Amino acid sequence: MTALPPDIHGTIVEDTTIAARAGWSRVIKKGEMMRIIDLHGKQAVDFLCWNAHDHEDRYAAADTMKINETGIFLTTGTTFYSVGLTPLMTITADTCGSHDTIGGCCSAELNKFRYDVDNQTGCRENFLAEMAKVGMGKRDMAANINFFMYVPVSADGQMDMGPSISKPGDYVDLRADSDVLAVISNCPQINNPVNDYNPTPVQVTAWQP
Ligand SMILES: [Zn+2]
Repeated sequence: MTALPPDIHGTIVEDTTIAARAGWSRVIKKGEMMRIIDLHGKQAVDFLCWNAHDHEDRYAAADTMKINETGIFLTTGTTFYSVGLTPLMTITADTCGSHDTIGGCCSAELNKFRYDVDNQTGCRENFLAEMAKVGMGKRDMAANINFFMYVPVSADGQMDMGPSISKPGDYVDLRADSDVLAVISNCPQINNPVNDYNPTPVQVTAWQP
């Protein structure tokens, strides 16, 4: 990205294009902001965060859905809570309007189980590769958030990995409510429509207001 969005004011601490299918991680300090931009639209961004000072204090999807009035679709005003009910991050702006936290992430095992393809890296493998950089492993995994991923649930309880509804340039702004370790897998999935069968780059910008 050559120019920062004009509505971002403060000190930029990160401005990175995450390549299609790639991972990313960083500690975001309390009070810092983070914008994730779906540059080309229709790209799922799998996301996890932990209390940066206690990695056992991980994101809690179920408690986040229970506590927030925004329910199963995360959007502006949703606070992400940890298992210890530490407020981790809050969505402060959202041009897409719907983000998932029930669908979980793709993995090489799921790609084999559901689509009979061998050795196709998924978000779980991307997460674990980023987590390994700070000494974390499978025991530290948690159910994740999927920005820009649409998982409709019908009245009879069926859920679907629906075609993405995000547009090019859609973004979500997050405020860190604690020091958090944030990890992204720019979803590599090509076997279902969550990325429109075409994984594309996304932008992450973080700043101190
Ligand atoms: Zn994925």
